[in-house]
Amino acid sequence: MGSIEAARKEANGSLTEKKPCVVFVLGGPGSGKGTQCANIVQHFGYTHLSAGDLLRAEIKSGSENGTMIQNMIKEGKIVPSEVTIKLLQKAMLESGNDKFLIDGFPRNEENRAAFEAVTKIEPAFVLFFNCPEEEMERRLLNRNQGREDDNIETIRKRFKVFLESSLPVIEYYNAKGKVREIDAAKSIEDVFEDVKVIFTPKEEQVATA
Ligand code: UDP
Ligand code: MG
Repeated sequence: MGSIEAARKEANGSLTEKKPCVVFVLGGPGSGKGTQCANIVQHFGYTHLSAGDLLRAEIKSGSENGTMIQNMIKEGKIVPSEVTIKLLQKAMLESGNDKFLIDGFPRNEENRAAFEAVTKIEPAFVLFFNCPEEEMERRLLNRNQGREDDNIETIRKRFKVFLESSLPVIEYYNAKGKVREIDAAKSIEDVFEDVKVIFTPKEEQVATA
């Protein structure tokens, strides 16, 4: 136990020292977070960390938390912060990069406060993909990624959790002037045009009109 705790502290220390640039990528299920993160990685050199993907990998790895995580995902519930934060910290360290897109996290106030308390990292900004529920539902039901939570019953629960628990996180950062909102109902290409503007330094932006 002692050595694990020491290792955790050391890992955290080296993360804090690096002062990485973190962008939280938030939006309802099916709003296009993962798709657009892949585009951002290609153009802007970030490392993409999807909290959901890390949790699904943890289930597959046969970890002792696997069954608990699997049950929570099936119910659309939010996995305890400490589990998700540990996975994110580990992935950040292993990447060797200092610019991260953290996709699908923090999902509630507790996630947010715990991440800031444990890592001492504040996001540079929050990229918010705003998309109507009907469009998100259509995408989730059509994407066929074999996900156990892409069925109408779980989708409804995920929408409810997003509205009740995740939107307040976006509001919290909005009050701090940190939210960059994107109309995510458009095509992948059109959304990425808007995303690019946000990631391109002001002095490099040229008028296209
Ligand atoms: N999840 C979680 N904490 C996180 C991220 C994901 O508990 O920080 C769980 C939650 O049950 C969620 C599921 O993983 O409904 C799928 O999340 P993901 O972000 O992959 O789905 P998306 O919202 O992008 O469709
Ligand atoms: Mg996703």
